[in-house]
Amino acid sequence: MSAFVLDGRAVAAAVKGEVAAAVSALERPPGLATVLVGDDPASAVYVRGKRRDAAEVGIASIHRELGADASQAQVEALVAGLSEDDSVDGILVQLPLPGGLDGEAVVQRIDPAKDADGLHPLNLGRLVLGRPGLRPCTPTGILRMLDHHNIAVAGRRAVVVGRSFLVGRPLALMLSEKGADATVSIGHTRTKNLAGLTREADIVVSAAGRAGLITAEHVRPGATVVDVGANRGPHGLVGDVDFDSVREVAGAITPVPGGVGPMTRAMLLVNTLRAAQARRLGSGIDGPD
Ligand code: NAP
Repeated sequence: MSAFVLDGRAVAAAVKGEVAAAVSALERPPGLATVLVGDDPASAVYVRGKRRDAAEVGIASIHRELGADASQAQVEALVAGLSEDDSVDGILVQLPLPGGLDGEAVVQRIDPAKDADGLHPLNLGRLVLGRPGLRPCTPTGILRMLDHHNIAVAGRRAVVVGRSFLVGRPLALMLSEKGADATVSIGHTRTKNLAGLTREADIVVSAAGRAGLITAEHVRPGATVVDVGANRGPHGLVGDVDFDSVREVAGAITPVPGGVGPMTRAMLLVNTLRAAQARRLGSGIDGPD
């Protein structure tokens, strides 16, 4: 039997509806600042999409661009200025930055209370501690999508393939923290017998960035398969999962495109809204989760 396809666009539309309603209840709209450095066409497309999303839900967009020849000091000064700007509630620096620039140092100049991507070390530290804070968008979006479809994670075995600070590691933490309660393993390039590991899982998440990595032989019948991969090739955008073969084995599966990507974008709006609400309540980053 063919797997149920988890439609990220539909769930993201529902999330955006909730954000739009909450935004309209605020006295003035939240402001999301986007920072684009250099002339990478893919980065420009991503930022345009995020600004369009913001406009759709009533979030004001504040856009700043610097050329590929910008210095580290210029980029950091721009971000530090946005951190101090009262009209800005959320800040997104489109990564990766052009070669020679230190993205991590730039992210550290974001006020953690305005960290719309949830990648500031303080917010990642709060995640490790199990404390409230702004959390990375892709893992949050995945959990939200599973929850929307009543796919339980508590007590279930999850395998996350990939250990980046952007996706794999925060997702593994979020799946295993109290309240989510999955039992989690992380696969990476040094994992022996990846297929043997993933076949034991009720939930397989692939965030490796390798087209065709997860095939039917990696998946236990009935398992949920979440494909984070966004690989551009001759056939356009494809994930890590061999969709056609895996959908015949899995119980549920996310497509690429139209799965995790729209959820990631929707969670950026959620984080911007939460940041704006917390700032206006004066409750800061420790505010209600
Ligand atoms: P990354 O920093 O390159 O990390 C990739 C991880 O996958 C690494 O930990 C790597 O292991 C592991 N890996 C690579 N090849 C593997 C293999 N053959 N077997 C097992 N593990 C393997 O990438 P990322 O930033 O996490 O992104 C991962 C993918 O998700 C990319 O395609 C990216 O474009 C996509 N992405 C999509 C969204 C979305 O919203 N849809 C958001 C973010 C990222 P090692 O640590 O051993 O090298």
